[in-house]
Amino acid sequence: SPLLPVVGQDLAAPLIHGGHVRYANLDYAASAPAIKDVAAHLNEVLPFYASVHRGAGFASQVSTSVYENARKIVAGFVGARPDDTVIFTRNTTDSLNLLAGCVESILQQRGFTEGRSNVHGEVLYLDIEHHANLLPWQALPHRSVVGADSIAATLDRVETALRAGNVLLVAVTGASNVTGEVLPVAELTALAHRYGARIVLDAAQLAPHRRIDLTATGIDYLAFSGHKLYAPFGAGVLVGRPDWLDAGHPHLAGGGAVKDVRLESISWTTGPARHEGGTPNVLGAATLAKATSVLAALNADDWHQHEQQLRAHLVAGLNELEGVTVHSLFSDADTYPDCGSIGVVNFSVTGYDAGLVAAYLSAEHGVGVRDGKFCAHPLLNRLGLPAGSLRASFGVGSQLEDAQRLVAGIQTLLQEGLGWDYVVDSGRWVP
Ligand code: PMP
Repeated sequence: SPLLPVVGQDLAAPLIHGGHVRYANLDYAASAPAIKDVAAHLNEVLPFYASVHRGAGFASQVSTSVYENARKIVAGFVGARPDDTVIFTRNTTDSLNLLAGCVESILQQRGFTEGRSNVHGEVLYLDIEHHANLLPWQALPHRSVVGADSIAATLDRVETALRAGNVLLVAVTGASNVTGEVLPVAELTALAHRYGARIVLDAAQLAPHRRIDLTATGIDYLAFSGHKLYAPFGAGVLVGRPDWLDAGHPHLAGGGAVKDVRLESISWTTGPARHEGGTPNVLGAATLAKATSVLAALNADDWHQHEQQLRAHLVAGLNELEGVTVHSLFSDADTYPDCGSIGVVNFSVTGYDAGLVAAYLSAEHGVGVRDGKFCAHPLLNRLGLPAGSLRASFGVGSQLEDAQRLVAGIQTLLQEGLGWDYVVDSGRWVP
């Protein structure tokens, strides 16, 4: 049964040959359904709809306190240091772009322009990154990329790159959005710090599955999205050390980001407001914070066990099917027990286009998975999957039957083949 009730858990999915079946949502890694308590919180704060930081009226005051309290709750959830800044953004992509903007400002302030070598201004990232943690850095003048095909080799290569002394920031994902494998975050953080670099963790996938503590680990910056953390769309966070954030050019220039404005000069403010110009997403922040409270209250063993049982069932079931390959990144994952995997399983079915399999699972079995290259093109190409693969992902609202339905669906496909009388619009079935 689900670990926590989520919105839409009884959704009925239409089937191609008629009738409906309970929707087996195995696409949590893209966007996870809201936890019911989180959805209820939305209705609790909705009546106080008013602009924050601006009005003296009752609703404005409540709204402001809801918003600022959300910041404190999120800070607590990630074990932020007392002076860390918590900035509300749109999502992880926005958070990482914000930090990249700050790094760019710092490089400019230090006079580190394109073409200069041997400057302490390089950003180092892995070749497995989601585009959100790749493209913002790729636009900066100094960078290096490390291939991550085993954990030991990744740590070795990162250390070699750091030893040269030019790395300012290590930007890594906490868990791969493609395979679900968890990176050795503590080791990477210690390495970065040993060589005078900072680290930013793209926790879009990790935060919904594992506890992260900035104070205990020393991670300098952390980014994640509400919509993958069982909250509605539209809000994300960037948490971390204030000096770079206060030195960076404001992410959104506008109302609230300034101390004083003259027609000929601007004095920008510091703290979160520097980057949160304009009217903020109060409901997004409040629900994101509520989701962190609900997850923080979970028994860690129950949480872990629920996910690992589903994962083990899915992997074992898929591995039993001839013609199915389950993909992983790290050949030496077993020797790093702290790493493991979150609720994501990546696979291919030999002889079948991933998009068609995904459409078939939806149309014939009411199972929702993701197919494609998962915004991680360099990795899919390196894995020899230029046409993409399939990803099943799950979380607190998932149940064993979802995994069983997926395995049974693939088994039926392998036995009976695709009865394609319904594929329209480039392989998508339109109910
Ligand atoms: N990083 C990772 C690892 C992700 O999985 C995702 C979302 N697929 C992102 C970043 C981007 O998140 P968002 O779309 O919420 O900005």
